[in-house]
Amino acid sequence: MASNDLDSGFVSWMYEFCVNRKPDRIDGFFYKVFFDPRLIEQYKNFFEVKEQPPPAKTLRCPVCGFEHEASALSCPQCHLSKDYLHDSEAVERRKWLYSMPAEIRKAYDQEYDKLLDETTFNDLVAGKGKLDALERKYWRR
Ligand SMILES: [Zn+2]
Repeated sequence: MASNDLDSGFVSWMYEFCVNRKPDRIDGFFYKVFFDPRLIEQYKNFFEVKEQPPPAKTLRCPVCGFEHEASALSCPQCHLSKDYLHDSEAVERRKWLYSMPAEIRKAYDQEYDKLLDETTFNDLVAGKGKLDALERKYWRR
């Protein structure tokens, strides 16, 4: 066992392996498979740490710098829609909106939330037009 770099758990693991196979004669089967290199390898792999799943993909919002899940439909911080991530004009407009004085931004956020509540999934495209109109309303105010 030492030559194969096996610990004492190998014997009980092998015994369980043999019992689960339900051989006619367990002692003969045990003796037959005890030094099988494939089973020794299987035992070693059994305790190897499984590879960690990759971390969830995130992205840094180009407007507010908030790091959030890349799968999010919009930035939870500044509401930049995923659709506008690569639209430099929309990003610039949103940056300006994001830097509005707190009072005006609060009013904007309230109108934004109200608009989202009124927008159904079916008129999502129309809703985007309304969101653009709302942004233009507050643009450079
Ligand atoms: Zn953001």
